[in-house]
Amino acid sequence: VKRRTDERLGFFDAAMSYAVTERLTLERSIKDALKAGQFELFYQPQVNLKTYALVGAEALIRWRHPELGIISPDKFIPVAEESGLIVPMGTWVLRTACRQLRIWNDMGIRGLRIGINVSGRQFHEHDLPDLVADAISESGVNPTHIDLELTESMLMADGEGTLKMLRALAKLGVTLSIDDFGTGYSSLAYLKRFPINTVKIDRAFVKDLDQDEDGRVIANAIISLAHSLSLKTIAEGVETEAQAALLARHGCDEIQGYMIGRPLTVADFTAFTSSYIAR
Ligand code: C2E
Ligand code: CA
Ligand code: CA
Ligand code: CA
Repeated sequence: VKRRTDERLGFFDAAMSYAVTERLTLERSIKDALKAGQFELFYQPQVNLKTYALVGAEALIRWRHPELGIISPDKFIPVAEESGLIVPMGTWVLRTACRQLRIWNDMGIRGLRIGINVSGRQFHEHDLPDLVADAISESGVNPTHIDLELTESMLMADGEGTLKMLRALAKLGVTLSIDDFGTGYSSLAYLKRFPINTVKIDRAFVKDLDQDEDGRVIANAIISLAHSLSLKTIAEGVETEAQAALLARHGCDEIQGYMIGRPLTVADFTAFTSSYIAR
């Protein structure tokens, strides 16, 4: 019995050190990829649910790996977060998204809003308002066309520091959204206290919409709550006309999802802006 236990422990040790080695290798690769310019932003369209007009896009990072092809953020964001690489990566995302918006503006594509994901690490450890101010002034974009997507967990961390940070960001003229709303440990109190503009309803709730009555009740409750606090609502992950119709019935303001369009490369999104027809 003793020996068996040892063997098992040995197995776990090996598995663990394998995981650590793998993590370190990935960390090194991310660092190299940042230097080599292998990261790229894709843009997913967002439309007004009443008019179906194109109103914005969410910038979503991809790793264009020379051998492995496109790698999704779920594969590298967690390691980037843990290692702190998310900080230079996040700065790159901010600058690249602002620069791209400027390019679109110069091409005559105007009025679009770009949603940018902010990581917890970026929010807590670094001077985010300065970075945002720099990205805006260097690109010359209208700050009201930049929307920063924050998560509930970031906002819950520490009251005063968080409020100060949010006020500093809001002062720059950018808008603030809560991403994945309803999935975190949320206290609804912060919705009122913080200068937030928009609630992004998580895909999990949208998925449940056409399943049963409970799904409808939750989505409806989030939309009503948001509206009663004068917040705008965007539903994420809308895949079907049935989901869009139910959201419209509940008064949801905007939608984003495969029904309208997948995250697109810059070239594809540019083409999308001229071929898209609001119905
Ligand atoms: P998120 O911010 O919740 O982004 C929405 C995710 O849902 C995206 O996954 C998007 O491709 C996917 N999605 C959109 N519409 C649909 C749909 O209709 N159906 C389904 N099944 N999925 C849909 P993606 O691009 O893989 O990004 C995953 C997560 O990685 C993001 O979740 C976000 O948390 C993070 N992320 C992406 N880009 C960045 C970034 O630049 N910085 C940071 N810090 N995080 C990022
Ligand atoms: Ca997001
Ligand atoms: Ca989300
Ligand atoms: Ca999510």
